[in-house]
Amino acid sequence: MTTAEAAGTFADLELRPELLSALTALGYEEPTPIQREAVPPLLEGRDLLGQAATGTGKTAAFALPLLQGLQRRGRGSAPVSLVLAPTRELAMQVSEATHRYGKDLFGAGDGARVLPVYGGQPIGRQLRELERGVDVVVGTPGRVVDHINRGTLRLDALRTVVLDEADEMLDMGFAEDIDAILDAAPADRQTVLFSATMPSRVERVARRHLRDPVRIEIRREQPAAGQAPKVRQSAYVVARPHKPTALGRVLDVEAPEAALVFCRTREEVDQLTETLNGRGYRAEALHGGMSQEQRDKVMGRLRNQTADLLVATDVAARGLDVEHLTHVVNYNVPSAPEAYVHRIGRVGRAGREGVAITLAEPREHRMLKTIERVTGSRITMEKVPTVADLRARRLELTRAALRESLLEDSLDGFRAVVEALTDEFDVMDVAAAGVKLAHEASSGAGPDDDSDIPEVAARPERPDRPGADRAAHERPGHDRARTGPPSRSDGGPGRKGRVLDGPTTRLYVGLGRAAGVRPQDLVGAITGESSLSGRQIGGIEITERFSLVEVPEPAAQEVIDALRGTLIKGRKASVRRDAKS
Ligand code: AMP
Repeated sequence: MTTAEAAGTFADLELRPELLSALTALGYEEPTPIQREAVPPLLEGRDLLGQAATGTGKTAAFALPLLQGLQRRGRGSAPVSLVLAPTRELAMQVSEATHRYGKDLFGAGDGARVLPVYGGQPIGRQLRELERGVDVVVGTPGRVVDHINRGTLRLDALRTVVLDEADEMLDMGFAEDIDAILDAAPADRQTVLFSATMPSRVERVARRHLRDPVRIEIRREQPAAGQAPKVRQSAYVVARPHKPTALGRVLDVEAPEAALVFCRTREEVDQLTETLNGRGYRAEALHGGMSQEQRDKVMGRLRNQTADLLVATDVAARGLDVEHLTHVVNYNVPSAPEAYVHRIGRVGRAGREGVAITLAEPREHRMLKTIERVTGSRITMEKVPTVADLRARRLELTRAALRESLLEDSLDGFRAVVEALTDEFDVMDVAAAGVKLAHEASSGAGPDDDSDIPEVAARPERPDRPGADRAAHERPGHDRARTGPPSRSDGGPGRKGRVLDGPTTRLYVGLGRAAGVRPQDLVGAITGESSLSGRQIGGIEITERFSLVEVPEPAAQEVIDALRGTLIKGRKASVRRDAKS
């Protein structure tokens, strides 16, 4: 068993019940290694020097202990915790995470007061909040010094100061500000320093401001010699709003036989499963919140190949062994190298080559480097398939399908059509028109397939200095940017082979290609308006004027009523049982 797998729950960390229920509500199933190691000494009040990059779960590692000791305090109270972060983006992220963990700390809706302070935001709002009283301030060093100089941020009540991404702060020239802030903070405070790297300038800050710190580093376990699986490893750097689309495209090109997709939380598992189903994959969710019976069912579907993708948390996937698994996908960079090694060890068994795909947000790039270093393996950075790549791939699939048809099928019944047309047209043009129709019948083009996913630099943030241009692409709220599932073929490989258990009924929906209807529109309308989930919908056929959808017989009337009561592509559709079914 690797460290990443070692037993240990959030409850074992003896966190207060309000925090435990917040973590459960967020779908966190178990602590990450850094949380397991950092929380106990922090709860004891020790200073801590931790080497950990973004993606390891370091925010919760320091935020939970800050919140654990918090008492309800009155109006106008000065903060008890101060977190310093290099950029406004990080300050906002940390502040939001801390707020979420502590949102019901004193009862439902009565939580910790957390305030982000950074340059670029009008200072007036920050002043009002500070006057009203806050528990935790998360700020960039420059703005925090401003507030201290104005007398608007009092440090006398501080019990803990956290330096997050200390190496970044020093690189950005915040060394003096950090010294000034720490010198002004009460001498008996607790000091916590997290940094992705430990160059000597970070060590200097630690020597000057930390007292007998506990040192924590992500353990560097090497997989035992000879055990390293034969796995092609690639990674894609994608901004968060584009991840679902990017994953869909990568999977379209990779065409896995069976893939295991790892997510961080239960919510993420559920959301991604829905998205992938909408794209035409047969995806199943597996997480710790499911009963053993449900899990066995899901596993059965993957084994007998009625599902192609299993979307799971680490906890749920533990001990899972699927023979024909070809791909492992890390929807996020794993929280520790050991977890990465453990995950990708599930493919590339018995001498077969497996594929490991990792999606990394720009800030998580460094963690990828750590994984490469620790595992001694290379992860190739790839570009998300472009619209042109996808088109080329689809044409290739059409070509392969035609070739198969030429080799296998009896084409006699169609020759007469070709002959009739060659009186009027060149035989090459007749063939091309046939290819075009075959291609269009199997490849829809949705809105997402018309636009490329923007390439992003590995770490595009900029310093939070007055006048500095501020990167906005990671801002919360941008998550709500377009993430809809792109189109997949009408009867694409995912849907065509769908087999539903039990009796089914075919429904006629009076809208088709001419109205712009794609399979995901129907799946979206059905799952949105009825109790069916994506995987309970069978084959979908879309013709120019109408569509046919296969649903379980017991749910047919419910789906008919639901679809009659809603708009599909902005239009009302006539819906009924298909006469021929
Ligand atoms: P961080 O390294 O703090 O930036 O965290 C990276 C991501 O992991 C964030 O999206 C967190 O919400 C998530 N996260 C942190 N701890 C856990 C956990 N124990 N289980 C699942 N997700 C987590």
